[in-house]
Formats: sequence, C-alpha cells, structure tokens
Amino acid sequence: MTGKKSKRNVVLKCCLMDDDKHCKQFAGSAVYGRRIVRLITDQNLNLRLNPKARHTNMCNYHRDILQIAKIEYKRNNKKRMRSPEINMHLLTVKTLRRYKSYYNIRAGRGWNKARLVNAVEEHLKTLPINETEIINNFIHMVITNGNKLDKKE
Ligand SMILES: [Zn+2]
Repeated sequence: MTGKKSKRNVVLKCCLMDDDKHCKQFAGSAVYGRRIVRLITDQNLNLRLNPKARHTNMCNYHRDILQIAKIEYKRNNKKRMRSPEINMHLLTVKTLRRYKSYYNIRAGRGWNKARLVNAVEEHLKTLPINETEIINNFIHMVITNGNKLDKKE
C-alpha cells in the first residue's frame, strides 16, 4: 500500500468530505491548504475538510480533481484579465496614424488601414497600464479640453 501513514503507522484516509460524505480513499502526499480552500470557494466545489481528520493529506483522486479545477480557474482568470475587444477598424486612418506616430511604431508610408489596424492592435496588447497616469491624463483632457498625449508640432 502506498498511502500516507500516520506516526502510529496507520494508513490515513483522505482528509476531505465530498458532497458531505467522508472520502474513503487513502491519503496521498498532496496537502489541503489555504490555496485549496480558495480554489474550492472560487470553483464552487462541494468539498471541505473533514472536521474529524487529524491531518490534511488528500487522496490522489481529489488531488487530481483539484488540479483540473486549478487549470480551469486559471483559464477563466485569463479570460477575465484580457482587455475587452476594441474594434480598431472603427478608428479613422488619421487616428491610427496618430497612435502610430505617438508610439513610434515602424510602419511603411503607404500602409493601408488594415495594416495600420494590425500594427496598432499588436502594439496595444503590449502596453502596460498605468492607471494613475491614465486618470491624470483624462482629468487634464476634461479641464483643458485638449489631449496631453498630442505631440506639439
Ligand atoms: Zn479524497
């Protein structure tokens, strides 16, 4: 048997309760911790620590379940983090060119709108976001009715 053993050499059972039933599987080396509590809450899993368990080792089945939940959680999180889609095609060529020249994006002179849109979209994805700066610029714009980002020509 490969299960985790207690100090008294007794093979331990999984520390979790699944759907309010004690898990009867043998405990492995995976440990129930704070991160797992968060994951269980986030993913609405019907798992909790068996209050009678004197250890925090889980069985391999629950370890795998939680592993999958973690991947799922990360994937959803990435989706949430991704900026909302902006349709750059709605911008005028003039605006796209302004963006391009502000950020010194290399582009050929005769670039058509589609190529400009691509370049701007690619560049936008790489921009770090400084909220304070954005808010300050916005306030400046409202007060002065001008755009701080415009280069003085
Ligand atoms: Zn289990």
